[in-house]
Amino acid sequence: MKKGVSISAIAFAVLFFACGLSACGGNGGSSGNGGDGGSGEIHTHTAGDYTWDEDLHRQTCTECGETLEEADHVYDGSNTCTVCGYTIVPTEGLEYEQVDEKEVFANGTVEYVPADGYAVTGIGTAGEEAKIVIPAYHDGKPVIQIDDNAFIECNFTEVHIPSTVESILSFTMCNSLTELRIPDSVTWIWHFYGNAALKSVTFGKNSHLIYLGKATFGGCPELVSVNLPDSFRYSEDDLFEKSKILTDKSFWTDGILYIGNHVISADPSLSGVLTIRAGTLSIINSAFWPPCENITEVILPEGLRSINGYAFDTCSALKRVVIPASLEYLGYGAFERCDSLETIEYGGTTEQWKALLSYEPMTRFISDGCNCIVSCTDGTIDMEGNVTKK
Ligand SMILES: [Zn+2]
Ligand SMILES: [Zn+2]
Repeated sequence: MKKGVSISAIAFAVLFFACGLSACGGNGGSSGNGGDGGSGEIHTHTAGDYTWDEDLHRQTCTECGETLEEADHVYDGSNTCTVCGYTIVPTEGLEYEQVDEKEVFANGTVEYVPADGYAVTGIGTAGEEAKIVIPAYHDGKPVIQIDDNAFIECNFTEVHIPSTVESILSFTMCNSLTELRIPDSVTWIWHFYGNAALKSVTFGKNSHLIYLGKATFGGCPELVSVNLPDSFRYSEDDLFEKSKILTDKSFWTDGILYIGNHVISADPSLSGVLTIRAGTLSIINSAFWPPCENITEVILPEGLRSINGYAFDTCSALKRVVIPASLEYLGYGAFERCDSLETIEYGGTTEQWKALLSYEPMTRFISDGCNCIVSCTDGTIDMEGNVTKK
């Protein structure tokens, strides 16, 4: 599917990239000096011609072969990439509708902002095409959305989504599709439910993905490869329901399914003290469902940004949770029915904790059947929200 071709770089300034010692394997270093035959000789990278495929372009060093730049195409109004010159040849017959507002996710909630572009709303007369290429621009305006029900029970084996698309609402029962690349521009996806042959979903290195809806990749039994990007923060539940990645325990580590730096699921047989892996950025909605009823403590790592709703629902033996000050989002019901919860050790101040809860009652986040005290750096907060300063 990747038919890379080389094009002349004449249209572009020839770029030279200064090379740090570590990048080129100077000092006898072992990494990144492929073209030097391992000699460790220091050189200044020389940018070669751009090569491209239908999703992205890249530029490599003519000396050592190292990739100097790899990025999604950046299209102008005539569907030509302003960086590498690649031009989209869109599939004829797709259906479009103009959109004048779009949804943006901020702090776990949706906001509607004005937009001026198109959504792909249906496959139209392209239903028999094996390959679908969506244009970046249609009638002079960017294609920013793939609409709900745009692609249902389609026969295509390959689809290319341009780097103008920001949201994908559905891609359902397209049973010949085996792999898909999501451009960096996509910030949220509603669902891909029930794509029987889908094996891999790839997000770009600079993905802006923030939100995944309910069962986004559910019912994709062959799905074994997804690289959820670090930008991802918010989710609904059952993201990988009935997919191989969820059911095959070879993808799991110490009873936890991590995908990228995100906790997706946990084995209900886990017990005792659970330390979540360093570098983890988010815990998805209902990650610990079915409940881990024998976990007594959870230690969450510094740098964690989001705990989505109902993440620890019914972890009924859970007594103590350590939450770092880095946390930016706590979803409703995160500790619902955790009736044994006694202590949350929070790395921030009492004021930071209240802000984290958007000044809402503790019982929206923590079981009202427990008598939990949140221990902060400058005092404590009880379930009624009373602060006792140190
Ligand atoms: Zn080089
Ligand atoms: Zn390009």
